[in-house]
Amino acid sequence: MEKEKREDENMQDELAEELTDSLPLLEEEGVTQRVMPMIPLRGLTVFPCMVLHFDIGRERSVCALEKAMMQNQTVFLAAQKDPETDLPTRDDFYYVGTIAKIKQMLRLPGDTIRVLVEGVERGEILEVIHEVPYFKCRVMEIPEPEIEDLDSEMVARMRNCLSTFEAYLSANPKLNDDIYGSVATVDQPGRLADIITSHLEMKIEDKQAVLEAFDVGERLELVSQLLLKETEILNLENEIGSKVRKQMDKSQREYYLREQLRAIQEELGVAEDIDEEILRWRKQVKKLRLPAKTAAKVEKEIGRISKIQPSSPEGGIIRTYIETMLELPWHKYTKDNTDLKKAARILDEDHYGLEKVKERVLEYLAVMQLSNGLKGPILCLVGPPGTGKTSISKSIARALGRNFVRMSLGGVRDEAEIRGHRRTYIGAIPGRIISSMKEAESMNPVFLFDEIDKIGADFRGDPASALLEVLDPEQNKDFTDHYLEAPFDLSKVMFITTANSVETIPQPLLDRMELIEVSGYTEEDKLLIAQKYLLPKEIKENGMQPGQLHLTEAAIRAVINGYTRESGVRSLERQIATICRKAARRIVEEKKKSVRVGEANLEHYLGKVRYRGDKLEGEDRVGVCTGLAWTAVGGTTLSVEVISMPGKGNVELTGQLGDVMQESARAGVSYIRAHCAELGISEDFHKDKDLHIHVPEGATPKDGPSAGITMCTAVVSALSGRPVRSDIAMTGEITLRGKVLPVGGIREKVLAAHRIGIRTVILPAENERDIEEIPANVRRVMEFIPVEEVGQVLEKALVR
Ligand code: ADP
Repeated sequence: MEKEKREDENMQDELAEELTDSLPLLEEEGVTQRVMPMIPLRGLTVFPCMVLHFDIGRERSVCALEKAMMQNQTVFLAAQKDPETDLPTRDDFYYVGTIAKIKQMLRLPGDTIRVLVEGVERGEILEVIHEVPYFKCRVMEIPEPEIEDLDSEMVARMRNCLSTFEAYLSANPKLNDDIYGSVATVDQPGRLADIITSHLEMKIEDKQAVLEAFDVGERLELVSQLLLKETEILNLENEIGSKVRKQMDKSQREYYLREQLRAIQEELGVAEDIDEEILRWRKQVKKLRLPAKTAAKVEKEIGRISKIQPSSPEGGIIRTYIETMLELPWHKYTKDNTDLKKAARILDEDHYGLEKVKERVLEYLAVMQLSNGLKGPILCLVGPPGTGKTSISKSIARALGRNFVRMSLGGVRDEAEIRGHRRTYIGAIPGRIISSMKEAESMNPVFLFDEIDKIGADFRGDPASALLEVLDPEQNKDFTDHYLEAPFDLSKVMFITTANSVETIPQPLLDRMELIEVSGYTEEDKLLIAQKYLLPKEIKENGMQPGQLHLTEAAIRAVINGYTRESGVRSLERQIATICRKAARRIVEEKKKSVRVGEANLEHYLGKVRYRGDKLEGEDRVGVCTGLAWTAVGGTTLSVEVISMPGKGNVELTGQLGDVMQESARAGVSYIRAHCAELGISEDFHKDKDLHIHVPEGATPKDGPSAGITMCTAVVSALSGRPVRSDIAMTGEITLRGKVLPVGGIREKVLAAHRIGIRTVILPAENERDIEEIPANVRRVMEFIPVEEVGQVLEKALVR
């Protein structure tokens, strides 16, 4: 009873209070404040001029509604910051909202009431008077200014806003285009902004921002911006939507086609199912016992291919990778031959001579047996072409019982050729080392790098440094190819390299290798090689029986001297092959039992003799002197020609002479000027004579100091008129003071002199020890004249 009475009194008080509340509290300078009930709205922002209905059910909101109905149907509507908040406090809603008139209320089943309200104008809460039983607030009215004459700026803003709205409408399929018509007729800028905003679907914060934009111009601007942003988002959404749709259509189509393909393949019984393939790969990975990391890598790729479409380009790339990995000879080793005698026999079987190489290989075999797991040496065979460097390497592999692979470095352009391309490259493949290892089919083959000197000559830097890593026993255990992305063990490989000359091999590479010189052959060597190796080989290759072709010794010598001009036996082999082919034809065409080729009928087979002039010319001549040179293709002879003519002391040098060679020519001339008297030459020759020094075969560049004494001799001969002995050849560097300095390549040079029939060679005294290197059969027939000074050279070479 007591309680009821007190509640009753309370009610009375409040009623009185409410009546006064509805009146304006304060009105000064156009600012009106009122006390009124407030309803917090969830997820809804009401703008002035907007008529809408919503449902309320919360106790305090119902109470506020009832209070409003008792006064002049006015409520303040403010948006809740978070629509999820069930029992908001004074901090949970925005203070700027809309003063609204309640037009209608309808009780729905349950405790819900549906109200129809019309927004009147903006308002801002100045004070929350109490929160219970409903929110009672002191609110300041913010009336919208009525603008009669719109300035052009405002008109422009309105138009802009409208056109962006139009774009928004066309991007938003959920809104009816008719809305535009009703909005376009609004002539008040503030209202236009409000109405447009009320149609938009966007975040509460954004709508609130429009509500709080009291300045009309700013409000329009803001709405335009929001419209643009929303339109952009909508367009993006649409685009993504259509892409997804397309993608779905496409993948459905592909799926359908693939199924058909599979059906066709099944029908034909061709296709290995990708699942089966994956299963097979997995088995192989296990069987190969790949290193853990590598196995994981391959597994990952197998996993990837099972997820994507195997026939796509990407699928192709992955498949190639997996297959490459699985085809490498992981853990496959061939068993080395440990029988030294057998190895020696094999080496002799295939090649004549090449003693040093054979010995080194047998040593290697022996050491390998004593010390298990020895690191392979890196042999570098240096010598002129055609001397059997490549073919002995093959034979070494045979003798050791290992597989053989060869990779030519001539023409290797960049590092990627050695180390591969990363798989991100289109069409990436592994480098040539890895491809060669695949070819080798074992982890311990004999691996030949042919022409290692060509890599330094043409391309410095990277290919060489990649090669360095390959050849370095410390690093090649984990050689990494860019394509494989996994280490591969090269440490059990026996590397052999070949080069024509060591000069162009980069020093760091040279340091890692053991040089073995392979020198050119004498006529006798060549004869033997031809008889014992080349001829039987070619006879067999051309399908004949051993007795069917008889090539006489004289004929072979004639081939060596008249049809070839080389340190090695490559052209000799080619010529013999030609003879064999022609002989085979005769045997077939003329039904002969066998063919005999002698010196007399050689032209029949090989055509006219090619190198007649190479033989000694016989005559001693003035100003012509034979020198000896050493080039990448072996030793050769070099004739130097000098003429002197009236002039004023010019010295002309022709024949593509390099700087060093030109300088050594000039040094010779200076020496002569200083020793005119002794040499019996007019002291004024440098005033009234011109000299022309020429080294024929001008197309071949020549350089180096070793023609020094040759040029000097020719000049003295030309100036003094004393002929030079034509049966002498010489080599040696000259100093200004007339000393003769040692030079390289004596063995090759002497062989070259011997080839053309010269039997006397003048050479620097310091090179005497090199004479031992010369094959005994040549050494025996040659006369060597060691000299220390140019004077000695002239004395021997010039005819008295
Ligand atoms: P390189 O690699 O030094 O240029 P190759 O190995 O290509 O030379 O040799 C050319 C040909 O000459 C090969 O057929 C090779 O068998 C043959 N040959 C070279 N030297 C000998 C030799 N000492 N004994 C037998 N055949 C040889």
